[in-house]
Order: sequence, then C-alpha cells, then structure tokens
Amino acid sequence: MSLSPLRTFPVGTAAAPLGNTPTRGGAGMAWHWQVLVLGLWLTTIGNAALWQQLWALPEVGGWRGVRFMLGMGGLVFGVLVALMALFAWPRVFKPAATLLLLAAAAATHFMLVYSALIDSTMLVNVLHTDAREAGDLMSMRFALTMLGLGVLPSLWLWRQPTPTARWYRRALANLGMATVGLLVAGLALFVVFQDFASVMRNHKQVRYLINPLNSVYAVGKVVADQAPRTQQPLQAVAVDAQLGPSYAGQTAPPLLVIVVGETARATNFGLGGYGRDTTPQLRELANQGQLTYFNNAWSCGTNTQASVPCMFSHLGKAGFEGNPERFDNLLDVLQRAGLAVVWIDNQSGCKGLCERVPNVNTRESPDPRLCPQGECDDTIMIPTMERALQALPPERTTKGTVVVLHQMGSHGPAYFKRAPERLKAYMPECASTALQDCSRDEVVNAYDNSIRATDDFLAQTIGWLQRQPGSTGLLYISDHGESLGENNLYLHGLPYAMAPDDQKHVPMLTWLSTGLQQRLALPMDCLGHKASDRLTHDHLFHSVLGLLDVHTTVHQPKLDVFASCKATGAAS
Ligand SMILES: [Zn+2]
Repeated sequence: MSLSPLRTFPVGTAAAPLGNTPTRGGAGMAWHWQVLVLGLWLTTIGNAALWQQLWALPEVGGWRGVRFMLGMGGLVFGVLVALMALFAWPRVFKPAATLLLLAAAAATHFMLVYSALIDSTMLVNVLHTDAREAGDLMSMRFALTMLGLGVLPSLWLWRQPTPTARWYRRALANLGMATVGLLVAGLALFVVFQDFASVMRNHKQVRYLINPLNSVYAVGKVVADQAPRTQQPLQAVAVDAQLGPSYAGQTAPPLLVIVVGETARATNFGLGGYGRDTTPQLRELANQGQLTYFNNAWSCGTNTQASVPCMFSHLGKAGFEGNPERFDNLLDVLQRAGLAVVWIDNQSGCKGLCERVPNVNTRESPDPRLCPQGECDDTIMIPTMERALQALPPERTTKGTVVVLHQMGSHGPAYFKRAPERLKAYMPECASTALQDCSRDEVVNAYDNSIRATDDFLAQTIGWLQRQPGSTGLLYISDHGESLGENNLYLHGLPYAMAPDDQKHVPMLTWLSTGLQQRLALPMDCLGHKASDRLTHDHLFHSVLGLLDVHTTVHQPKLDVFASCKATGAAS
C-alpha cells in the first residue's frame, strides 16, 4: 500500500536523529507524537460504537459513569499506544498503523449499522466472503465511514516522517514508549477496576467492541487455531462404511437430495407456526403426509463458515470446535461406501467439503433467465442437478446417489434480491442493504419474501423428485438463522454463547417418497412424533447415514433421527 511516496531515510545515520526527521516542506510530527495522535484518534472516533454501547448500559450513568468512561478511555488509549510503539520501526509503522485504522473503520461501520461483534469466527467468515457477498454489504455509508475513519487519517500519517534511528536506540525508544503506555493503561484500570470488572462480567460483548484490539486479537486467535490444523494430515472417517442390506437386489437405487439452507430462521418459517404463511407450497406437501417439519432444530454456529463444515463432520459441535485434527466428512464416507455424490453450489462455495467429490458451481454456466444481474435464483440448481447426474459414474449411480444443493437462500442484507417478483407476497419491502434505513416491517417483508422463494425452491425440487422413479428423499436444514432488528441486532455471526435464538434456531424438514419409506420400513407417523424433539446439526451426519442405510461403527443411532422409527417399522 503506498498512499503517498514513502520517504526513506538511511537507518542509523546522523541525518536521521531519533524521533524527529525532516520531511518534505519542513518538519513533520515527531514519531512519538504520531503515536499519541493516532492513539487518541482510535480511542475516541475510532471507537464510536464502543462508547455509544457503553453509555447505554444501565450501570453506566451519572458521574460514576463519566469516571468509568474516562477510565476505559485511558485503558484503551494506553494499550493502543503501547501496541503502536512496539511497531514503530521504519518500514513497519505506517503500514501497520494503516491496517489498524482501516480495521477500526470497517469494524465501526458493521458495529454501528448491524450491531456486529468482532471475534475470530466473524473474522474467518469475513475472510471467506466472496466478491458477490461483499458487494451486498457495500453502501455509500460504508464508503464514507472508510474514507473518514480510515483513509483520511492514513493519508495524514503517510505525510509524516518515518520513525528512524540506529536500531538499538529505536528499540530503546519504542520500549520506553510502550512502557509509558502500559503504565497509563494500568493506572486507568486501577481507578475504575470495580466498575470495569462488573461491566466485563455482565456484558461479555464489550470485549469484542474495542477497536482495533478486537481485530488484532481475532487475527491472533485465527492464526493460533488454524496453524496447527494446516499441518495435520487428513484422516479418513468411517473407513469401514458399507452399504446395508436394503441394497441387496434393489431395483430402484435411492436418490437423496440434501439441501443446505442459507440464513433461514425457524421463527419466520410458516410450517413452524409463524403468523404468516411463508411456506404455502411446503404446507400443501405436508398435508399429503410425506413431509415432516422439525420445529426444534439448532445450528452448530452462527455463520456459514462455522456451521457448514461442522454439519458434515462426524464430531458434532463439541468435538469439532477447537479440534486441531483434520478429518474428511460425510460426503467422503458416502462416496467411500460406494454411492455417487455430487455437490451443487449456488453460493460462495462448499467450504472445502466437496474437494474430493464431483462438484458444480452454478456460476460456471449461468442461465440468463434464472440469473438476472449475474446472480442465480436457487431454482437453477434443479436443471444443473439434472445435468450433473448424467455425468456421474454409472457403477456408483446404480447403487445410489446423494446430491447436496447449497442455497443462496435468505442471504442478507440484500434480502430483496433473494426472491423473484412473482413470489414477493409482502410489500413494501426494504430495497436497501442499509437495513437500519428501512422500517422493521419493510425488513421483515423482504426477509419473508426470501423464505417464500425457499418454499418455492424446495417444493420444485420435491416435485422433480416425485417425477423420478424409485426411492427418493429430501432433507433440508438451514446453516444458521438471522437477526432482523430485534434489540437493534441485524444479520448473524455473533459469538454463539451471546447470539439470540433467532440466529441459532433453524428450520429443518424431510420429504420421503413412498418408495423410500418402504425401503427403510419407516412409518411417517412415527417420524411425526419426533417433530418437536430437540435436534441439532450434530444429527445431520448420523441421520443421513441412517436414511441411506450406510453401516459403520462411527454411526451413532441416538443422533440418527430415523433410527428408532426404522426399528419400530421393522418390528411391525
Ligand atoms: Zn450462512
């Protein structure tokens, strides 16, 4: 990054006295003043969201509140000065400080507009955001925030002289300034410790609001968590997987479609008892008796990057998170058992899950009718699937086939882009990505229209499956939920323990053809009795093995939704 020509000074020469070097057109600001000015800027304006949220806390009020805010300010300022002092080396300081300014600016925007918190899972999610998703989040307000809070102070900084001196004098000066910063932070903490401790205990989200220390911490945590994992060998799961007795002498191989939903929350799903009938087509299918809606299903994470790999892992949420080992996944197990597997993606990719199985991204052959403005309606995955099935190896498809359809679903904040005009039942809808500029009703209308689009897509997929011969089935579950402005929260991705249920309670359903029910000896009324059982993403791995009659010692019947019904069906 070179915002203005970087003036270099020979390190350790007499022309470069400690702390104050001449710049173009006269003296600039000495390096330690630069650190103080940047520290003050980041503490105040760069932390607007922190101060706004702290001031709204019930225990922060009156003079004691003012003292607490000043103490917090001193603490943040001292730590930032110490951090920047350590970076104050000739070629490091300006790029590092620029990164801090830009990180604080971007975080401020998302914290103010969507009440986002900056932690390691949010960072991983951001790093996996593709251009299309990023485009949805860009707005004039974002550009202005980046310009005012990030770019302009950076431009100022790049016009200042570069810190330089003999390396040992530089090291001594940096350490000295860092020590002063830490002393200021320590003193501030000492003065307000009681209030600080209680706020941190009662409002854990505050630690994720401190710019740009939240970003620095998140980067460190991601590096610390990911580095050991990348060095691990990939371990095969369920190497003993094999097809069960239902495959012996079969005339109609099973065809299962797993739909990975996107950002659908159970609260707004008509089948789950929402006040609006956002799922009229699925309701009709449910009335025919082959569709079961599970109204108590919970996600593994609160964002795609956390949830999707976890859903397909045999480890479950508790075993998957923080585990440095690398395992292959459900799709590898199914393929190893002999089935044909294909992943079809209408979103930002399969998060590494489909690396070893055939996979297709709808962007590779966009259909202009279904992909206006470059983005494809989820229904494009049906013809894509038809073509992909033709290309699968026949020695596998004669045993059985599993298709994963990864939806664009209700991906925000551009909900209005997620439903075609014919399905927009609720108007007026929010047609902006700055959701706070719309009324809550308009936001909910746009979101509910996107659920209608998922209803249509799932019904069309089931309709297609009904036209196929043999044992067909569909299992749908969303990756996580969404906040639609409740308590001023928008989007998703809060740390799991702090996230509201709306971000974690997800819709889940199965549709099983008569052929598949008979094949598994699985009575639908038994499944209906499980509709309110508490289920999680942990159940996906084991339930799919059960549904496909794939046997392995890794299979845990208690995490298989279908296991106990198959037992009763087989006994009757
Ligand atoms: Zn997602």
